[in-house]
Amino acid sequence: MSTKILLVEDEKKIADIVKAYLEKEGYSVSHVDNGSDALEALKRGFDLIILDLMLPDISGEEICELVRKDSDIPIIMLTAKSEEEHRVRGLKIGADDYVVKPFSPRELVARVQALLRRTKPVKKRLSFNRGMLVIDTESFEVFSKGALVTLTPTEFKLLQTLAERPGQVFSRAQLVNIILGYNFEGYDRTIDAHVKNIRQKIGEDNRNPSFIKTIYGVGYKFIGTPDEN
Ligand code: CA
Repeated sequence: MSTKILLVEDEKKIADIVKAYLEKEGYSVSHVDNGSDALEALKRGFDLIILDLMLPDISGEEICELVRKDSDIPIIMLTAKSEEEHRVRGLKIGADDYVVKPFSPRELVARVQALLRRTKPVKKRLSFNRGMLVIDTESFEVFSKGALVTLTPTEFKLLQTLAERPGQVFSRAQLVNIILGYNFEGYDRTIDAHVKNIRQKIGEDNRNPSFIKTIYGVGYKFIGTPDEN
């Protein structure tokens, strides 16, 4: 399923260019040129809105306020008003980002990508190998073969970090940085100790792990297979 973007822009030339650039990146783009059509279209469900501030009927600001009453869909405002007060107001009424006209379509595409990355809903329940390992990132609980496993906060964060990116190799230094929030070489080995504890608690076979694999000379990667849900 491609990401659905609603483009609300009354200047056809701009709309056509923006639409073409976004479609080239694989997004599915619906274009409307006024506010009431935008509000109607939004009932169909979109992943992101690109909203021009100056529209013929309802202003972009009003649309933004209306949308924010019951949705946290990412919104990028297009504005010709470059004055600081308008930018601030745009963000205050709930836009996530704004682009000042004239803008380069490439820049807008980059902003769209960045915003989607930032607002991507985080899965609260990570389940692997047909439920053999379940990590609930909301309740901070881990279940191994259905049984609750007690991890320390550091162990939990380490396991979560690895499990959120299966297949990605993390160096010990990277993990220290992510888990402890700073880089300090002396702590590299503490990662090994934490991994050892996690493996023991979730019942890993050290010689033939199902979840955390040691990458010799580098660090670790998560090799569990995410379950469909
Ligand atoms: Ca306009």
